[in-house]
Amino acid sequence: MSRIQLGNGISYEAEGRRFRFDPRKILPDEVAMISHAHTDHLPSSFKSLSAVCSPETKDFVKARRNKDVQICSNDRVEMLEAGHIVGSRMFLVKGETSVLYTGDYCTRRKENTDAAKPHKCDILITEATYGKPRYVFPDHDEIMAVVRDWLDDIVRHDGSAILFAYPLGKSQELTAALRNLPLVLHPTIAENNRILQKHGYDLSAKEFDAHKTEPPFVYITSGMGKDAGRVQALKKKGAKTAAFSGWALDRGFLHESTVDEAFPVSDHCGFDELSAFVKKCSPQMVFTTHGFAKEFAMHIRRDLGIEAQPMIARQRTLDHFC
Ligand SMILES: [Zn+2]
Repeated sequence: MSRIQLGNGISYEAEGRRFRFDPRKILPDEVAMISHAHTDHLPSSFKSLSAVCSPETKDFVKARRNKDVQICSNDRVEMLEAGHIVGSRMFLVKGETSVLYTGDYCTRRKENTDAAKPHKCDILITEATYGKPRYVFPDHDEIMAVVRDWLDDIVRHDGSAILFAYPLGKSQELTAALRNLPLVLHPTIAENNRILQKHGYDLSAKEFDAHKTEPPFVYITSGMGKDAGRVQALKKKGAKTAAFSGWALDRGFLHESTVDEAFPVSDHCGFDELSAFVKKCSPQMVFTTHGFAKEFAMHIRRDLGIEAQPMIARQRTLDHFC
């Protein structure tokens, strides 16, 4: 008998071992797995420093949590590319029952990440951030070509642009995809890129310099915190702005935000990609997490004919025996 339980990440007990996906607290005597280095997936408490993760994730745990995780392996755990951000991984736990935990994932190939590929399993635990039919993303290369055209035009006229992106993930994608443009980066993004340079990624780490940076330039920043003032000043001088988010598919996103352009660039699967992934894994049971977990579980049951159940935070007592 095996058991899946929500709480301190997601735990899976089988054949006398306990595996834990994306724990908040890493405990001894468990196999801890960290899927990627976004804050909502990172541990914040360390009773043990041993975890299964990629070398990139290990370095970001060090940078963000100041903890030296020791990468361990386990004969029942296989790491698979998740395609979400640099260093992101899915975990396949093998045994009498096989369990695939996706973490955040993307099946579109991008500059720094290969596409996540489905894998046959008995139980699938999948994210469902964009688990509603209206979220279908355009081809990644095509949308990046549109972005490049927009920026080429600005730069050709000696203008400047501010691109709002998460400091880890989309910022690296933009740094790589737009490498032929005069990029300057927020210091946090430059620092992330320096960490990744050590892993062989070809990423610029040139920072915005308040005294030296003159148009034309393309500034990548989250725009948050102390940078909000700089962004306002640059906008007053005529800088164009763009947001990069899957939510740009929502009608009203551009209208409600204060940017000139919004591009539907995401590090996640769209609805169609989530559905295709589930089908190809051909699991007996699917658990959905994050975003539209309820709606996507309903779609899996109704349209794919596979048993599915959402794992949402308020269901702290959810147990599944199989
Ligand atoms: Zn993430």
